[in-house]
Amino acid sequence: MSSNTSSPNTVDSPTQTEPDSALAVARRQLRRAAAFVDIDPNTVERLEDPSAVHEVTVPIERDDGTVETYTGYRAQHNSVRGPHKGGLRFHPDVTREESIGLSMWMTWKCAVMDLPFGGAKGGIVVDPKDLSTDEKERLTRRFTEELRDVIGPNTDIPAPDMGTDAQTMAWIMDAYSMQEGETQPGVVTGKPPVIGGSYGRDEAPGRSVAIATRQALDYYDKPLDEATVAVQGFGSVGANAARLLDDWGADVVAVSDVNGAIYDPDGLDIEAIPTHEEEPEAVTKQDGELITNDELLELDVDVLAPCAIGNAITEENVNGIRADIIVEGANGPTTFAADTVLADRDIPVIPDILANAGGVTVSYFEWLQDINRRSWSLEKVNSELNAEMEKAWAAVEDAYEHHPDATWRDAAYVVALERLSKAHDARGLWP
Ligand code: NAD
Repeated sequence: MSSNTSSPNTVDSPTQTEPDSALAVARRQLRRAAAFVDIDPNTVERLEDPSAVHEVTVPIERDDGTVETYTGYRAQHNSVRGPHKGGLRFHPDVTREESIGLSMWMTWKCAVMDLPFGGAKGGIVVDPKDLSTDEKERLTRRFTEELRDVIGPNTDIPAPDMGTDAQTMAWIMDAYSMQEGETQPGVVTGKPPVIGGSYGRDEAPGRSVAIATRQALDYYDKPLDEATVAVQGFGSVGANAARLLDDWGADVVAVSDVNGAIYDPDGLDIEAIPTHEEEPEAVTKQDGELITNDELLELDVDVLAPCAIGNAITEENVNGIRADIIVEGANGPTTFAADTVLADRDIPVIPDILANAGGVTVSYFEWLQDINRRSWSLEKVNSELNAEMEKAWAAVEDAYEHHPDATWRDAAYVVALERLSKAHDARGLWP
């Protein structure tokens, strides 16, 4: 379907030598995209590493009176275009390396959306399910104190991620503000609206996936109201994307959760299916033919939107994919090797750093509302998000058309890298 072909021959071979860690993938994608851009090699070298990684120990008193010490990280990748921005995870698999890789993705995501932010990511190595609410609050407050010198509304602005939520952000804002001696809502985004959070923030990543799907269908001359869509994952991203696409007239024929998928070739009654938040893992209890997640990925649909987990489309299942277009709702749902096969098969992949960037874009709106002390209506948030997505889409489409060898992912990276490169050149090297 895509007129562009696969890989420039100056990049890594598709047969992988590095494992698919977030950092390895982020570096490989950077080197691949740099081959398309006239960029100073020193800038590429700088972008391969974070500007700082903060590792802290976070001791807390457990409810039984014992003291436990956890490890936390904050990787700050690049701030040439503005303060660092990115999520904080509470998860047992958090590592220094993963934090760095994810912080790099945030740099590209902010740059492709032209937001005045750079990338960051971090978290604590902990399973939040093992903690009471009081313990989680103490952990969050102490972590905030450990990071207080390196976060702030003008330096690094965390947001929710796996295992953290609006309440976690409210605790961070409070802990930070109490120590700074003034209320600083702009230190985090993803807060409850009552303390400066933005309307529309929760739905934003799914909304941007729906907008990217609409733009992609339009580019390939497929009317939205004639399109069939399969969505893997019915959580915050997948359910919001599916509901909007259904509203806009598409036939969402399959959705899934961790237990499996439901399928109806005539279109599912999407509004009737509870989201992960409304009733966890309830998809397979709804009307429709039961199929597996693997079968969902192989449906013959116009659009496949993997919105659940990373590495969903791999070397093992990629040849079974029959969708005409893939729109990445999850972060990193396509492995590097699978991506190359899809490019060779001319199946366009609209990349995560563009498709799910609605989250960080509305986080930017939230930050603007916080520093201006003026909140926006939901209508304004959604209309501004639509405008920013269309602007970013146009820039990526332009790069895609100008580089006949580029995939859509390459094109998004080209847009991001060109902006980063120009900013580095303009600012020069200090001192
Ligand atoms: P969520 O927890 O709200 O929902 C996840 C959904 O995926 C659930 O329906 C769950 O049952 C399903 N799922 C879990 N494991 C699965 C598996 N192995 N196979 C099939 N389905 C499975 O999560 P979310 O916030 O929607 O995030 C989904 C993805 O989108 C993640 O990769 C996340 O990093 C990414 N993302 C989230 C946001 C955000 O702000 N929520 C923003 C950008 C990207």
